[in-house]
Amino acid sequence: MTPHHGPDGRFRNPWPGNINPGLGDLLRLLRERRRAAPTPPHGSFPVAEPAVVYPRGDAGALSATWVGHSTVLLQLGNLNVITDPVFSPRAFPVQWAGPRRVMDPGLPLDALPPLDLILLSHNHYDHLDRPAVKRLVSMHPDAAWVGPLGLARYVRPWGVRSLIELDWWQEASIKGVRVTGTPARHFSARGFRDRNRSLWCGFALESAGFRLYFAGDSAYHPEFGEIGRRCGPFDLMMIPIGAYDPRWFMQVVHMNAEEAVRVYQDVVAAYPGATLPLMVGIHWGTFRLTTEPMDEPPRRAAAQWSEAGLDPEQLWIAKFGETREVKGGLRYPRDQRLEL
Ligand code: ZN
Ligand code: ZN
Repeated sequence: MTPHHGPDGRFRNPWPGNINPGLGDLLRLLRERRRAAPTPPHGSFPVAEPAVVYPRGDAGALSATWVGHSTVLLQLGNLNVITDPVFSPRAFPVQWAGPRRVMDPGLPLDALPPLDLILLSHNHYDHLDRPAVKRLVSMHPDAAWVGPLGLARYVRPWGVRSLIELDWWQEASIKGVRVTGTPARHFSARGFRDRNRSLWCGFALESAGFRLYFAGDSAYHPEFGEIGRRCGPFDLMMIPIGAYDPRWFMQVVHMNAEEAVRVYQDVVAAYPGATLPLMVGIHWGTFRLTTEPMDEPPRRAAAQWSEAGLDPEQLWIAKFGETREVKGGLRYPRDQRLEL
């Protein structure tokens, strides 16, 4: 067993510095949330018309459409792939309470092209949306579902008959895509008794000559360089930049915008000669989850990006629904990668 498998059957973060918040911490958090900047009105952020190719994109092309939060539609060669599909108005167990959307999905669920691969990073409500899963099952019956260890039992009652479960660093070849589960520092829970019963992860994808990295939800941790070394060099990186304050509570749950840039630098460091990948900042602007102002993550990410001397063209702060074609691909055939 690897260190992220606990002896009690629960998963855990194998790095030092974990915190176990008590009741006092939760009360402090509620107090700080009451004092936080107000949630902006519905529709506050820019939107764009998606440029999705129906039913499928070109064999040698890659495009990404930011639907919102951690939901990204990828047209990866001939395949349609979606990450953490969330379309409901609220990220909560019931739809009459909990964080309501500030921004509607940039692409409605009904407008998705036929999906081949659906990736689920973990079971939190802002990533695993039961009504969306049920509708995807009926509308996209041929899609393959992939998630971390322990996730299948959540989605089986919703109609997902088979979900391929991956451990960290485990690879599978699915519909011509090499999918690798990648380590993340986070936790899982949907109720009070299932904490860390299922794993959390990111995904590295390789298909059609492109390599992509979707980080899922993660705090900063020391293994991003290893993800770059084993699964890079990437053409596109989807990294969370929001939901980071207050730091005393969130620092082991979500990276902040500066750490997201550091993650990018860690990941690309393994291939210093490679063209730098495009980074799209995800996990912001959609649901009010934490105390920082909702428009702050992209500003802080852009400031850190320029502080680090990186090319501003390579940081994509997407509008809701915006599509970008991603250049690159086939730069390093797998057999020419670094010796591990
Ligand atoms: Zn989460
Ligand atoms: Zn999240």
